[in-house]
Amino acid sequence: MSIGLKPIPLKELKALSAPKKWEVKGYLDDLASLTPIKGVLIAEHQENSLLIKARLQTIVSLKCDRCSNGFNQNLKFDGKELIWISKENDLDVEIHLDELVECIDPLDKFEPEKWIFEQLNLQMPILNICSDSCPGPPISNNMEASFHEKGDNGSKDLDPRWSPLKKLL
Ligand SMILES: [Zn+2]
Repeated sequence: MSIGLKPIPLKELKALSAPKKWEVKGYLDDLASLTPIKGVLIAEHQENSLLIKARLQTIVSLKCDRCSNGFNQNLKFDGKELIWISKENDLDVEIHLDELVECIDPLDKFEPEKWIFEQLNLQMPILNICSDSCPGPPISNNMEASFHEKGDNGSKDLDPRWSPLKKLL
């Protein structure tokens, strides 16, 4: 399933008299969202750049890194990106390094769905924490873990600083 936004050649965007606007509503294969991704996406071909503006929203289901409970997270993107239109070879390397701009070949296509996927993916939390009142790791798991550690044959109790010596023996 996809949103159904087809890639559009830059040449075609350039020929338009007004910015191209898409209504976004649907699911992406690579983004397991609970609700459809909704919003608007606008692509405007400027002299030597492509200006992409978007307002997107969806809800994803994540698993808490601390307590392992599932929870729902709002994903929102409201912003813009300027993509440099240039052939790789033409591109001034210094500009490229200084501004870390995205670059697209003039003969290439703009892929709305790929762009949406990338932007929403960037909004994903680095650490998934269910809420401020996260109960933390399940207690039973904790006890089990410490039991296993102590129940080991004792090698783990050795001060790690001694381990290089142990190897010599
Ligand atoms: Zn949690």
